[in-house]
Amino acid sequence: MAYQHTFHRHKTREVKVGSLVVGGDNPVWVQSMTTPDTYDLEATVAQIHRLEEAGCEIVRVTVPKPADAAVLSEIKRRIRLPLICDIHFDYKMALAALDHPVDKIRINPGNIGGYDRYRQVIRKAKAKGLPMRIGVNAGSLEREMAEKYGFPCPPAMVDSALRYIEIAESEGYHELIVSLKSSDVLTAVEAYRLYAKQANYPTHIGITEAGKAPYAVTKSACGLAPILLDGIGDTIRISLLGDPVPEIAAAFDILQATQRRVRKPELIACPTCGRLEIDLEGIIAQLEKRLAGKTTAVKVSVLGCVVNGPGEAREADLGIAAGKGKGVIFKRGDIIRHVLEKDMVSALVEEIEIWEKEEAAKGTLKTGGASIQNESTRAQERTIAMAEVEGRMRLPVLG
Ligand code: SF4
Repeated sequence: MAYQHTFHRHKTREVKVGSLVVGGDNPVWVQSMTTPDTYDLEATVAQIHRLEEAGCEIVRVTVPKPADAAVLSEIKRRIRLPLICDIHFDYKMALAALDHPVDKIRINPGNIGGYDRYRQVIRKAKAKGLPMRIGVNAGSLEREMAEKYGFPCPPAMVDSALRYIEIAESEGYHELIVSLKSSDVLTAVEAYRLYAKQANYPTHIGITEAGKAPYAVTKSACGLAPILLDGIGDTIRISLLGDPVPEIAAAFDILQATQRRVRKPELIACPTCGRLEIDLEGIIAQLEKRLAGKTTAVKVSVLGCVVNGPGEAREADLGIAAGKGKGVIFKRGDIIRHVLEKDMVSALVEEIEIWEKEEAAKGTLKTGGASIQNESTRAQERTIAMAEVEGRMRLPVLG
């Protein structure tokens, strides 16, 4: 019998953010943040459109000045993604943002000017029926916590988040999403793990100030993988220096690799070595092209010789074990075809299409998700096909 990996998702409440629902069994939504001055309407909207085109599902803009708050209604009118306003230091900017048709605000309670101001923001968010992210950050913990713990350690961050949750609950407000970010991977992982044992508000996860790609992507993956594999995380942002558009692909790749959200075929290819018996790079390049745009969660292995080829191919949904100028196609562990090297790509694509039809007939390939509500935007439509694997991971045996 096939071995099944265990996976338990952190059980969280559902919080509605615009047309999406964050938490519960819903997909881990991918979000990003704009970089122009928010009041520069044209630049901000143009960047949001580029982010949406890349697959971004929720977008955040900073609101440090009244001029930024003043354009929020117009930004919202011109975009389709749920819009979050990011507020630091000045609680009045949070109150101002809430006068616009935004979908959520994010504040850092540690720098908002005390509990009373925090309560004022909560009361207004509650009155408007809008959710809020409590963004606890290791670099800006409130003085009380910093003094109590002497250092911005995970327990201090979680203690801070729990304190702010308690205050929100005392106001009868529960539309919360929590983040516990640090630029230190170990601190972030421990903080999220500690939090998940004590609270059930959904989490926004990320490694803050990760720096410049490619190291920043690797660092984010190192920090987010343990969190995601522990079933924690309901929305994700990869923080990269510069243009935010590459953040989207990085986030989806991390979700794909951790199998928290599989939305494209997984290609398994060996690194090649002196034993290689086919043009593996050429075959993988052609396969990537032919499979571009497919959202099927199918695992396909293509290995360059008989050392690991048959073993990997047996464990994948579909696979090729290559020999000299030819290969054998496996499907769910059984040999189904012998092909020449020149026909490998077409044969594999054909088999993938047959596999998709069979899975669809069995009902394993769903084209919609009960948790996705009233969707009409392109980004949301794209997510429909992806939603089926979220929270219901299908994990084949790995060798
Ligand atoms: S599968 Fe074969 S060709 Fe590929 S790395 Fe392993 S030994 Fe080398």
